[in-house]
Amino acid sequence: MSDFTIAIHGGAGTILRSDMTADLEKAYTDALEQALIAGYALLEKGISSVDAVKAAVTSLEDCILFNAGRGSVFAADGSQEMDASIMDGETLMAGAVSAVRNIKNPVELAYAVMTKSQHVMLNGQGAYDFALSQAIKTEKDDYFFSSFRYDQWKQLQGTDEAALDHNVSVKDMPAGQADKKFGTVGAVALDKNGNIAAATSTGGMTNKKWGRVGDSPIIGAGTYANNRTCAISCTGHGEPFIRAVTAYDVSCLMEYKGLSLHEAMHIVVHDKLLKIDGEGGMIGVDAKGNVAMIFNSEGMYRGMKCSDGRNEVSIYK
Ligand code: ASP
Repeated sequence: MSDFTIAIHGGAGTILRSDMTADLEKAYTDALEQALIAGYALLEKGISSVDAVKAAVTSLEDCILFNAGRGSVFAADGSQEMDASIMDGETLMAGAVSAVRNIKNPVELAYAVMTKSQHVMLNGQGAYDFALSQAIKTEKDDYFFSSFRYDQWKQLQGTDEAALDHNVSVKDMPAGQADKKFGTVGAVALDKNGNIAAATSTGGMTNKKWGRVGDSPIIGAGTYANNRTCAISCTGHGEPFIRAVTAYDVSCLMEYKGLSLHEAMHIVVHDKLLKIDGEGGMIGVDAKGNVAMIFNSEGMYRGMKCSDGRNEVSIYK
C-alpha cells in the first residue's frame, strides 16, 4: 500500500490499437507520464494532494492531444468552451467553472473559485471576469486551436449532432454515434498527510449547443473527494454520468455499504452506468492508498504512480 499516490486519466472511449500509430501512441504515453511526474514530484516533497491534482491536470490541459485547455473541442458556434472542477477531500471545499473561454488552465480557475471566492461554481462571462480579477492566465483563441479538432467540428457543423470524442475522424461513423471517444482529463491523489483530492477538466462535446455542460464541472457527478471515502474523477458521456451522480455514488457505496474503493467503482462503472448507457470510466484513490482505474469502454488513457513503486501508463483494455 502506498503512503502517497497519484492517478490520472486522459479520456475514455473506443480507443483501439488499430486506430493508433506508434508515434501517436508514444506522444500520448509521454504526455501521461509527464503529467504523473508533475503531480508525483509535489507529493514526494510533502505538498498537498490538491496541489498535486492541479499540477497533473494543468500538464494535461497544456497538451494539445487532450480535450481540455489547449486542444479543446469546438462548440456549434465555433468557440471553445471549457469546464473544470477540483475538490479537497480534507475540507470538502470545492471549486468549478463551466462554459469558460480563453482561460489557459480552467483547473487553475476552478482552484481560485475554491480558494478565493465564497462560491462553488462560476459560469461563462462571470467566471471570466472573476479570472481577470485573480490574474488567472488567459490566451487568445489561436492558442486553443488544433486542426484535428477543427476538422472534427467541420464534419458536424450545421447538424444537430454533438459528439463526445477524442481525436480521430468522425466521418465514417454512423449518424448518432459520431465517434465514441471522450477526451476529458482528470487526476486523483493521496498525499503524505493522508488527504485526498480530485480534479477534472474538459472541452466537453464537439458541436455542443445551448450552453451544454457535462458532468466534469459538477461536484458529485464528474468529480468528488472526501477523506472518509474516496477521490474520484470521471470521463465519459456526461449526461448519464450526471443522472447517476456518479462520483458521489462511489463515495456513498463506500460510506453507507462499507464497500472497498474497487468494489464501489466496479458496481458504478459496470452495472449502474451501463444500465443507462453511460459509457466511460473513472479513476479513484482512498485515504488508505488504494487506487483503481476502471472503465466500461474499449480504452481509457490512464496512469498511476505510487510510493510503493507501482508505476504504469496504459491505454487499451
Ligand atoms: N464527460 C465529459 C462531458 O460530457 C466528456 C469526456 O469525458 O470526455 O463533457
